[in-house]
Amino acid sequence: MLDKVVIANRGEIALRILRACRELGISTVAVHSSADRELKHVRLADESVCIGPPPSGESYLNIPAIISAAEVTDAVAIHPGYGFLSENADFAERVENSGFVFIGPRAETIRMMGDKVSAIEAMKAANIPCVPGSGGPLGEDDEENLRIAAEIGYPVIIKAAAGGGGRGMRVVRSEANLLHAIAVTRAEAQNAFGSEVVYMEKYLDNPRHVEFQVLADQHGNAIHLGERDCSMQRRHQKVIEESPAPGITPEQRQRIGERCAAACRQIGYRGAGTFEFLFQDGEFYFIEMNTRIQVEHPVTEQVTGVDLVKEQLYIAAGEPLRYSQDDIVMRGHALECRLNAEDPKSFIPSPGQITQFHAPGGLGVRVDSHIYSSYVVPPHYDSMIGKLITWGDDRVSAIARMRTALTELVVEGIKTNAELHLDLLSDGAFKQGGTNIHYLEKKLGIS
Ligand code: ADP
Repeated sequence: MLDKVVIANRGEIALRILRACRELGISTVAVHSSADRELKHVRLADESVCIGPPPSGESYLNIPAIISAAEVTDAVAIHPGYGFLSENADFAERVENSGFVFIGPRAETIRMMGDKVSAIEAMKAANIPCVPGSGGPLGEDDEENLRIAAEIGYPVIIKAAAGGGGRGMRVVRSEANLLHAIAVTRAEAQNAFGSEVVYMEKYLDNPRHVEFQVLADQHGNAIHLGERDCSMQRRHQKVIEESPAPGITPEQRQRIGERCAAACRQIGYRGAGTFEFLFQDGEFYFIEMNTRIQVEHPVTEQVTGVDLVKEQLYIAAGEPLRYSQDDIVMRGHALECRLNAEDPKSFIPSPGQITQFHAPGGLGVRVDSHIYSSYVVPPHYDSMIGKLITWGDDRVSAIARMRTALTELVVEGIKTNAELHLDLLSDGAFKQGGTNIHYLEKKLGIS
């Protein structure tokens, strides 16, 4: 097993990684900004190193500082968590070139998946269903671009190959707007991502977001762990996630899941990963692969019983997968509500001191959070302060448990979105299951 791991992240995921390391007898090094000395995992870690001032550009994104921390503490591996440097191929490369294990895929895999055009090419070659589209970067020839769009059929969406975080895309509903939209998206992509490569896809009007979890080892084995539905989104940020996805049949799960696992074998994937699809009219369309652990991983853990972070550590240590596909059985239903320090109506972040915190509990209730009474939520980072996860025999009981858990939860001193969650859990369409990715914004009157 790995001897000592640097946790290159903060908040709930840093604590989650620390817990998995502890269970496996791995020593931990917390690297943190000067604003994060009081974080729970920093206090619990075997060692801690301050790597810079509060702005993440100077701390959690400071590659030389993180690698030096690994060197001075004699660590053997670095876990990037999610966000920050987790999908930065240069970071993965520098970690490995400095003699440490990067807990994630090889740098070249991250690079390939980070460019959406090359990711789609690889997925097509691996038999993964993709959105009908240009099948590559758009050129400068206007006539050709108009022809491609006509062939795909309007509406289409122009997307930046290097885009991320829901930015760098533009929907085009008629021919008259196409060339202008391509030019504007190109310019924005160059500005925001340093690459003007754009491509075109069919725009799906009312899809759901359904994603498949995979695990792959360094010996050519790969399995899938079923799917999650993350359609409840605001500004491309997931708000509630669940597993299994309502209405997905065992045949669909097996067919698409097997293809994802096969694609992992084909590209030599390593570690935990997620294949994101849009799902509409019974068809799956690949949009991108996330080459890291995801925020919503606990819902998969609750229904499969597999500890995904522990498996990441085993894989990084060079162990063969400890599960075969037949070992993966999904039982019951799990939900996750992301708890944010924000105003439930205006969504304006609400940092500050938590004066009272009482966590819910009981059978089938899991709280993944780093907060405690007197903890000060700093204003410098993402506003997520934790996740409530519930499990039940079926979807109805998982929802009932979540309602009970939210009613028990007490967070005082700052505002949270708990009220929004309670409202959503009693929404008729949500209760029925299978709402699309536009549902929440429509309900909130945003679109
Ligand atoms: P990012 O890397 O920025 O998250 P994605 O390719 O994952 O970009 O797309 C983000 C979101 O944009 C999707 O979850 C979906 O809401 C919307 N989207 C992307 N492609 C399409 C498409 N072809 N049709 C409809 N919506 C799309």
